[in-house]
Amino acid sequence: MAAFSSLTDRLSNAFKNLRSKGKLSEADIDGTIREIRRALLDADVALEVVRSFTARIRERALGTEVSEALNPAQQVVKIVNEELTDVLGRGVDRPLNFAKNPPTIIMLAGLQGAGKTTLAGKLGYWLKDSGHTPILVAADLQRPNAVTQLQVVGERAGVPVYAPEKGVQSDGGDAVSAPGETTGDPVKVARDGVELARRKMYDVVIIDTAGRLGVDEVLMKQARDIRDAVNPNEILFVIDAMIGQDAVQTAKAFDEGVDFTGVVLSKLDGDARGGAALSVASVTGKPILFASTGEGLKDFEVFHPDRMASRILD
Ligand code: GDP
Repeated sequence: MAAFSSLTDRLSNAFKNLRSKGKLSEADIDGTIREIRRALLDADVALEVVRSFTARIRERALGTEVSEALNPAQQVVKIVNEELTDVLGRGVDRPLNFAKNPPTIIMLAGLQGAGKTTLAGKLGYWLKDSGHTPILVAADLQRPNAVTQLQVVGERAGVPVYAPEKGVQSDGGDAVSAPGETTGDPVKVARDGVELARRKMYDVVIIDTAGRLGVDEVLMKQARDIRDAVNPNEILFVIDAMIGQDAVQTAKAFDEGVDFTGVVLSKLDGDARGGAALSVASVTGKPILFASTGEGLKDFEVFHPDRMASRILD
């Protein structure tokens, strides 16, 4: 995974020095922990997460019984793997929460450029592929061209799109509004989209919402209003794995703002340091449900904390 390749190399180096040891002294463990700590901080994992993570590893490594099956280095790797799985999932590895009575309503939230619209297409495609009948709803009326973009994404995925009629040109031109200007009511669009899904028997509604470049209260209220109007089964917070240390603040703001139910890490294919995104589950206590790994429709996977931990430690 490109976003973690440097972290993977650094961690593997940290373990290398332990391999020749028959038994680990406290100094050996502390030396390794120091390297793990540096590797995590350099990868942009949030300080508060690094602190508790390394403290747990130290405590467990020091208390480790001599094992017949594993040498000391393997034991430390096993502990790090388990703790990383915990950081990534807080013990939760759950699938998408579907409504008992369809339609299932999934709302996407996050900063502008996080990858929401792209994700709407991927999610729609993936759901369709597994036998569902999804529909996308264009409730991002903030960004010029956002509705058109969703329509393009929907067409590519072979998934219908419900969009507000007013202001949307059928010739695909920029249409909805001038920059910074809002036209139409995104809450009404979301509500009408759900209503249409109910009438036409679409079983999953994916609502794309507006994002801004930074967290802002108007945006948050709009997202909250949409949430309260349609009562989603899932509110997915989409976060660009490359945004660095801002990830934690942004995630906390969205958690307070809309109380999201799950996280999607996007752009894990990027070569920037993806560690900040690793902090998000830990600081919000919300599970990561999906990972987005490219611009293509199929560059998308269900997230499993244990598998991701093993890949990072590979
Ligand atoms: P939105 O503003 O949150 O709706 O973000 P978009 O879906 O428009 O994505 C912003 C940009 O990031 C677009 O150029 C996408 O093609 C790109 N993008 C989205 N997801 C990924 C991903 O997983 N990997 C890469 N490399 N690019 C992505």
